[in-house]
Amino acid sequence: MNKCDILYLVIPCYNEEEVLHETAKQLTAKLSEMIERKQISPESKMVFVNDGSKDKTWPIIRELHETNPLVLGVNLSRNKGHQNALLAGLMTVKEYADMVISLDADLQDDVNAIDQFVEKYYEGCDVVYGVRSARDTDTFFKKFTAQGFYKLMKLLGVDIVYNHADYRLMSKRALNELEDFKEVNLFLRGIVPLIGFQSDVVTYERHERFAGESKYPLKKMMNFAFDGITSFSVKPIRMVTSLGLIIFTISILMLIFFLVTHFTGHTVPGWTTIVISVWAIGGLQLLATGVIGEYIGKIYMETKARPKYIVEDFLK
Ligand code: UDP
Ligand code: MG
Repeated sequence: MNKCDILYLVIPCYNEEEVLHETAKQLTAKLSEMIERKQISPESKMVFVNDGSKDKTWPIIRELHETNPLVLGVNLSRNKGHQNALLAGLMTVKEYADMVISLDADLQDDVNAIDQFVEKYYEGCDVVYGVRSARDTDTFFKKFTAQGFYKLMKLLGVDIVYNHADYRLMSKRALNELEDFKEVNLFLRGIVPLIGFQSDVVTYERHERFAGESKYPLKKMMNFAFDGITSFSVKPIRMVTSLGLIIFTISILMLIFFLVTHFTGHTVPGWTTIVISVWAIGGLQLLATGVIGEYIGKIYMETKARPKYIVEDFLK
């Protein structure tokens, strides 16, 4: 089985000065051990992507690079957010690596799961998703919002892997395909399943942040969830259409009801016309907005210009 392919680790970092030394230490130990066992090529590396940090993150990465031959660094021009930093790292290293694993700088993703990722890769997987087994270390609030998010995404028809964040392995082939997804609204968790190919899951236990604070406060988390939903689903628009349809149907029932009360003489003059128009116009407006929305939704999907298919094999 010893194919000895090149593994690159990609680690996005934003203000992570407190954890970097420890992260580099643990990952160095892991890579060295795997290289020694000939599970991966001696050319394997770890790449820290500095996402426009305001602290000493970049100087630390530079220093690590000078003292540790396994460490490489990528510096972004400014803070672009986790997803973009991750993509920048993946696209920069893909030509040197056979497989790339992305993980967080804060050691929340269990480093010991890396062996299993690589094993699955050798078994023929192009994508391996890291799925956290438990959420014991999370606060009730984080657990609750996160699970609500995954359920909502499923409900809206977005194909994402439950409890999978961005700890994943991708082969060179999968990364080459990822490059063709040109959208600006980047939500990798939603895009990677669209690539297809053989994939599998590795479960791991998520630890507590080693040091420092989460760079995802509630506001960022909500934005992230909202972007995730609106980048992948036009169902919210369809809901407006359905609502319009429902209200319009009700308005017709109301029309019958108010006409009956009108003719049986239980109303004051003028009441019937006003109530009927309020309901009917309201319903029609919502319906019309929904229909317009449908077209905007189509345009929205088109402007993404996503690849419509991906060729897996080519026999010639
Ligand atoms: N991160 C980044 N850019 C940002 C925010 C976060 O590169 O604008 C990185 C951060 O350094 C970490 C990873 O993304 O390696 C996940 O962030 P964090 O641990 O703060 O999120 P949480 O685990 O709390 O969801
Ligand atoms: Mg974290």
